[in-house]
Amino acid sequence: MTARPRAVPGRAPDVDVVVVGAGITGIYQLYRALEAGMSALVLEAGGGVGGTWYWNRYPGARFDSESYTYGYLFSEELFDEWEWQEHFAEQPEIERYLNHVVDRFGLRPHIRCGARVDSAVYDEAAGTWRVTAGDGTAVTARYLVAATGVLSVPHFPDLPGRDDFVGESYHTGLWPTTPVDFAGKRVAVVGTGSSGVQLIPVIAAEVSALCVYQRTPNWCTPLNNAPITAEDQAALRADFEAMCKTLHASPSGFLHQPHDRATFDDPPEQRQAFFERMWESPGFSKLISHYTDMLVDERANAEWCGFVADKVRAIVRDPATADKLIPKDHRFGEKRPPFVTGYYEAYNEPHVDLVDLHETPIVRMTATGIETTEGERQFDMVVWATGFDFGTGALLRMGVVGRSGVPLTEYWAEGPKTFLGIQTAGFPNLFIPGGPHAAAGNNPRYNGDQVDFVTETLVYARDHGYDTIEADPAAEERWTAMVDRWATRAPSFGAGSYYFGTNIPGKPRKYLLNSAGRPKLFSMIAEVRASGYEAFKMSRAPGAAPTAGEPRPPAARAALGPRVRPSPRV
Ligand SMILES: Cc1cc2nc3c(=O)[nH]c(=O)nc-3n(C[C@H](O)[C@H](O)[C@H](O)COP(=O)(O)OP(=O)(O)OC[C@H]3O[C@@H](n4cnc5c(N)ncnc54)[C@H](O)[C@@H]3O)c2cc1C
Repeated sequence: MTARPRAVPGRAPDVDVVVVGAGITGIYQLYRALEAGMSALVLEAGGGVGGTWYWNRYPGARFDSESYTYGYLFSEELFDEWEWQEHFAEQPEIERYLNHVVDRFGLRPHIRCGARVDSAVYDEAAGTWRVTAGDGTAVTARYLVAATGVLSVPHFPDLPGRDDFVGESYHTGLWPTTPVDFAGKRVAVVGTGSSGVQLIPVIAAEVSALCVYQRTPNWCTPLNNAPITAEDQAALRADFEAMCKTLHASPSGFLHQPHDRATFDDPPEQRQAFFERMWESPGFSKLISHYTDMLVDERANAEWCGFVADKVRAIVRDPATADKLIPKDHRFGEKRPPFVTGYYEAYNEPHVDLVDLHETPIVRMTATGIETTEGERQFDMVVWATGFDFGTGALLRMGVVGRSGVPLTEYWAEGPKTFLGIQTAGFPNLFIPGGPHAAAGNNPRYNGDQVDFVTETLVYARDHGYDTIEADPAAEERWTAMVDRWATRAPSFGAGSYYFGTNIPGKPRKYLLNSAGRPKLFSMIAEVRASGYEAFKMSRAPGAAPTAGEPRPPAARAALGPRVRPSPRV
């Protein structure tokens, strides 16, 4: 059942659950809510489903997580029938996959695209959320799940004259759905974070001139992607159960296993050989399977950084360019490390240039190009690979107003406060899986854990006759203090990382992830269960009326198809 379009005041809510966002988290929340017999509607700003994988369709966009570890694991049939083509799939395949899931489980009728939520106000008298969106949608819901993503608000630097440029202009995180033609064009790319370094080598082959504007070089290492062979496919299917177990037990949600030796346990020759193996290893294994002290011991980290720096010097022929590409202000792992394919090699092309913005800052944009302290360069196209308003960006732009008319922007003025990264006190029945205070790592695993727990909590409340659920402020204070404490501990990301919000002028400097990771989430969830949900205040809403559409479990379940695999319990 999709919601009726107009809310009538004083009535039962139109729908049990409104989910905002049709990314991998929101789609899963929709699935779980329907499975639990609730009525649900997803409102998505984009023109299609996929979230990150709808918006970030720039050339070269692909996973840094292994494809099969990123996809859903709740249905073995789904896993069996979808054959990922590469260990690290490219955006079109990921978008196809998420669309397949939506159709496979009959979810599309419950999703409204082109509906950007601009207001979500808690009606205390009725115990419901009143949600409106830019397309005219107005709907009331008992529960509001904001699965709005942490990397869904693209950030543009505030440069004088940015709007004066008359050529083509794109942000990697707002890439058009129509093809972009690079052939023979003079292109500027601003930014060398994870997106910029994926894009640069791919478009370098097409453009007539490419100029890369770099503020901060990153420790880029090879992704080491490969096609998935028929034997790999068979092994993946045979090992499904074991893979799920490993992923569930992994603090960061990856298959990579930790190493058992520290850097200086090995003599220099053996160390060099190990570093070579790391360089050749896939994606995030360079963080997870590295020497045990690499992320926590400065000397160990410096050894590895020295090795990577030598690799850069060996690949990039011009020593001055190589030097600019080697980070000087942060260690490996202090920022989210990008993984690349042919990135450093691109700078050996005669038509590819690197501008170091520390040496020659941008003065302004002009109608025809970019002016630095060294002069103006003219372009046909500028690509902004300048990142996102991480963590809280989307939630704070959604017009959320909680109990007593308090806006979320006010309650979080000094940074987010959450319990489990799932709820915030004073905003009853609002849940934020995949939002701030979620763990770094393979996102769908942690976000999925959160969705499972949100669903379980809704079901618990329903089964116990409650319809208002609100995090206890004391529990929230403890969780937020824990997040802040862990933020200063190695191997948290460093203070210069966008995970502290420092890339956005004026944003409070607060850690936006949860470095304690999944083990902490799991142990807290176990505590919550054991205490009979003590950390949540549950009550009957004053004006509560039965939700429109109840009861409807059999129909909802039927739509989901066969053999739904319950998530492993923690
Ligand atoms: C280029 C790129 C590559 C990445 N690669 C990886 C990777 O390899 N592994 C990994 O684990 N993570 C990766 N990530 C992180 C990625 O964001 C998460 O993996 C995942 O997409 C999060 O899913 P989500 O559903 O929580 O959020 P999103 O995918 O961001 O979806 C949120 C959705 O909410 C919608 N929304 C937001 N506000 C509103 C509103 N007010 N009204 C309506 N709709 C709204 C947005 O339009 C968006 O579609 C990558 C991110 C980027 C940008």
